[in-house]
Amino acid sequence: MEKRDYYEILGVPRDADDDQIKRAYRKLALKYHPDRNPGDKEAEERFKEAAEAYEVLRDREKRELYDRFGHAGLEGTGFRGFSGFDDIFSSFGDIFEDFFGFGRRSNRRSRPRQGPSLRYDLELTLEEAFSGTEEEIVFHRMDNCTVCDGTGLTPGTQPEICSTCQGRGQVIRSQGFFQISTTCPSCHGQGQIITDPCKKCGGRGKVKVERKVTVKIPAGVDNGSQLRLQGEGEPGENGGPPGDLFVVVHVRDHEFFSRDGDDLICQIPVSFVQAALGDTFQIPVLGNEGEHEITIPKGTQPGDVIRIKGQGMPSLRYGRNRGDLFVRVLVKIPEKLTQQQREILEAFAETEGISFSGKKKKGKNFWKKITI
Ligand SMILES: [Zn+2]
Ligand SMILES: [Zn+2]
Repeated sequence: MEKRDYYEILGVPRDADDDQIKRAYRKLALKYHPDRNPGDKEAEERFKEAAEAYEVLRDREKRELYDRFGHAGLEGTGFRGFSGFDDIFSSFGDIFEDFFGFGRRSNRRSRPRQGPSLRYDLELTLEEAFSGTEEEIVFHRMDNCTVCDGTGLTPGTQPEICSTCQGRGQVIRSQGFFQISTTCPSCHGQGQIITDPCKKCGGRGKVKVERKVTVKIPAGVDNGSQLRLQGEGEPGENGGPPGDLFVVVHVRDHEFFSRDGDDLICQIPVSFVQAALGDTFQIPVLGNEGEHEITIPKGTQPGDVIRIKGQGMPSLRYGRNRGDLFVRVLVKIPEKLTQQQREILEAFAETEGISFSGKKKKGKNFWKKITI
């Protein structure tokens, strides 16, 4: 028999997207489903044909081969369509359940699953972030109950086989033409029921515990840095590994330093005389030295920045040392002057050709200076 075109079978255009293809297949699968057409050979063929078309068009690689070379393109891949219904249902079982609104919850439940991860927010001072530290943190998590070892059973007892599903964890329900298995409502898919629950955990198998761990904080951590403590989260399900604990770092604002990556920034106020003449003084730095001598050159302008190499934060990045410290100079203008200071400044102004008594001179020189 001549093979029909897959797009034609599903009744979709050649540029149909995944969603269109899935919807088209769903429609055909419902229409030609063997439960709906018992003994109908024609329907059976259509059902198989649609499954094959869907199998190819939903798969990017197969679809590309088919688009380029037609049916011949798929021959080299070992793809041969489906031999029968079992084949189709085992390939698309989950999709049929999707179509009919039932998930395979019971299967998911018995799969090993990693436990939930937890988050802990840790506040540090900039000094702690600078030098690195060890912090003991206390948090709560659910742990497997030590009395029943997480089973939820009173030690020495056994769970009973669920009478609703006879231990299968699933019950068969009729939905129109179909029989569909769903998670057993009595045992929630476990297949068994605890009749004698553990006294300590009430049958849940888990108890809330307080946990203390010591966290090593490396030097150089920043706001939002995350430290992962593997296995310190909550226990896994069905033999899965426990989750992790993520410690999220928050660095408190510092009175003197702000931070830009590995660099530190600070501001120092100097008098306008220091700025004009230049000066040397001590400024605080993080680390053992505590202070660092800095020299501002004569003629320093407001907002000038002096860079001190290697006095920033330690870098977390491998092979890098410390960032730099940027010192921004704030030039303070005195708000009050003594009579003597005033006279000195006026005398200084005279040397610059500025007079405070008359306004005549000011205008011209002032604008001349500005426009230079
Ligand atoms: Zn227990
Ligand atoms: Zn059951």
